Amino acid sequence: MKVLVTGGAGYVGSVCAHVLVEEGHEVTILDNLTTGNRSAVPEAATFVEGDVKDVIADVLAGADFDAVLHFAARSLVGESVEKPDEYWHDNFVTTLTLLDAMRSHGVNNLVFSSTAATYGEPEVVPITEDMPTSPTNAYGATKLSIDYAITSYAKAFGLAATSLRYFNVAGAYGAVGENREVETHLIPLVLQVALGHRDKIMIFGDDWPTPDGTPVRDYIHIRDLADAHLLAMETNQSGSHRIFNLGSGDGYSVRQVIDVCRTVTGHPIPAEVAPRRAGDPATLIASSEKAQRELGWAPSRTDLETIVSDAWAFTKNLGSAAHSARRVR
Ligand code: UDP
Repeated sequence: MKVLVTGGAGYVGSVCAHVLVEEGHEVTILDNLTTGNRSAVPEAATFVEGDVKDVIADVLAGADFDAVLHFAARSLVGESVEKPDEYWHDNFVTTLTLLDAMRSHGVNNLVFSSTAATYGEPEVVPITEDMPTSPTNAYGATKLSIDYAITSYAKAFGLAATSLRYFNVAGAYGAVGENREVETHLIPLVLQVALGHRDKIMIFGDDWPTPDGTPVRDYIHIRDLADAHLLAMETNQSGSHRIFNLGSGDGYSVRQVIDVCRTVTGHPIPAEVAPRRAGDPATLIASSEKAQRELGWAPSRTDLETIVSDAWAFTKNLGSAAHSARRVR
């Protein structure tokens, strides 16, 4: 298929782009490189640098794409609480622009990169897709609103769409892993401590209603996540908007993640408790049964040690040079 990947220079988008290329698809990547890396773009892909909202009509015009995988977005919970305006514009308004451009150019197949943050603080876990959605931050709210828009476009205009609600994506695939200029995610930050680029990891609160007082998350391997995107794209049906949760089905606390990182890296990884981070829910664990049943998705790297080991291999390879050249924030 001929596929446009927006945000295909970012962590999740670029791994999906690599897998698409490996599976024989023709890939174009559209990315403004604000948070993405040009080096993460597969060599075989065509690369267009730009903002979706500005250039999408030009990119789609006459190109005859079969599908769009839409990753380009702002995705930091804490930042979205402080700068909701930027999240509503860059996520919601931009995606509406994309939906309208797809409609005008006859591109009908969409896979949308969504998030567990659409659920907010769940009453029970694991979270299934029919549970109430009540986001606790602007990031989750923008992604949920986009789902409403996609559902109505599917119904009215025959769009064939799937939203994939990721839980905590981690790990690496080959030469692609988490490599952001400003890193806020737990596993890459902990590994930076092991690499000697940070003194310690801050634990954002140990007074949460969880077994050890630190927040619990469901970590999913980036390569398993990529598989789900290809399955969704290949099975999308006109007029239907499917929503699937993607996780491994197991919850790990922040302290447990740090312990697994200690085992994998052999580094003591000092940790210190800090105040809670705004917008964080206590526990997020996915039920991915629907994706396994309806998409035929079969995640095979669900063990946290495998996820951390792959992330660690990537982080070490990235090398001290790349990390020390960059300001660690
Ligand atoms: N976290 C932490 N210290 C950090 C970064 C994250 O304690 O330096 C916690 C964060 O509060 C959350 C969990 O780790 O409970 C996962 O956070 P991350 O930012 O990786 O993903 P999120 O769950 O926000 O998507």
